[in-house]
Amino acid sequence: MESSVAVCPKRMQYGPCGGVEFDGRCEVAEHACVFLDTPTVRWAGGPVSPGAPAVPSVPEPGSDMRGLLRQRQIVVADLPARALSSASIEAVGGILRGTVDAVLAGDSGAERVQFSPAYRASLVQRAGLRVWTGLNCRDRNRVALEGELAALADAGVAAVHCVTGDHTDTGSRPDAQPVFDLDSTRLAALAREAGHLVSVAESPCAPPVSRRAARLAEKAKAGAEVCFVNHAGGAAPVAAFIREAQDHGAALAFLPCVPVVVDAASARLLESFTTLVLPPGYLGRILRARDPFAEGVAAAVELSQELLALHGVRGVNLSGGAGPDGAERFAEALAAIGTELAPTIAT
Ligand code: SF4
Repeated sequence: MESSVAVCPKRMQYGPCGGVEFDGRCEVAEHACVFLDTPTVRWAGGPVSPGAPAVPSVPEPGSDMRGLLRQRQIVVADLPARALSSASIEAVGGILRGTVDAVLAGDSGAERVQFSPAYRASLVQRAGLRVWTGLNCRDRNRVALEGELAALADAGVAAVHCVTGDHTDTGSRPDAQPVFDLDSTRLAALAREAGHLVSVAESPCAPPVSRRAARLAEKAKAGAEVCFVNHAGGAAPVAAFIREAQDHGAALAFLPCVPVVVDAASARLLESFTTLVLPPGYLGRILRARDPFAEGVAAAVELSQELLALHGVRGVNLSGGAGPDGAERFAEALAAIGTELAPTIAT
């Protein structure tokens, strides 16, 4: 019988990925996810890439954000800038500066071709924002990832968010060959070895639901310190997931995702996320409102406050994105949410 790694289209050792369909099918192949019926893969320990050179000596990356997380809860916002546009990063940076603690510059299903992570990070920093850089295993082998991690450390990014990444068969560039030399768990270990504050994602609603918390605990053993909890349908399911993860020994800072929708285009973009579960009535409340922008901001603030009240939650991630021409308007929504949340942030 073939191993899970050989059959998984992402060649994952520490599967499953977050893209398992609700009925258990693989994100990309015509079979069930190969990790559905296998025990949770335990973190093996040891260096991920023994041949990797030592990272050049730089001021400890992530130290500023580690301190901030100890001090108070934080607000992170997805970077809504257009791909391959330094002018767009500068424009949305000007809107977001001073309203959120960092922006997550991560993977995008709509725009597979992006500036390289380290270059994009430097543009975000130049715009006056802390950058929480997303890094995926789809587009780079381990040597290229080691180079990016060294560059991100040298640039002094706030943190690195390690994901396996959606397969190239989904999204806008199915002509590209996927790499998947590593997966999110091993990338988390590599990033931690490079000195970064490391975050990972986990999807409480993706099958196998009963083993998602245990999988997260293995990512924590590998080096993750922060977990972005993907959209799970509201505060109660997030609270249950955090309790379960803590029972498995995952002593992480949790940043649940808050869906941000302010118009039909941002709703469409959010709906493209894998295994998306929203609170009941959330989208309808916004899209049927007389002023969807104001209603979307109000809904996100309310949900954020519910999530920030949960034990173990150290912040929220304002999650979503704009349609093709809406980056700056979407940034205004993120800024308004961040500004409204600021007085309620707990230490
Ligand atoms: S759903 Fe993800 S982890 Fe499971 S087999 Fe497919 S690619 Fe691999």
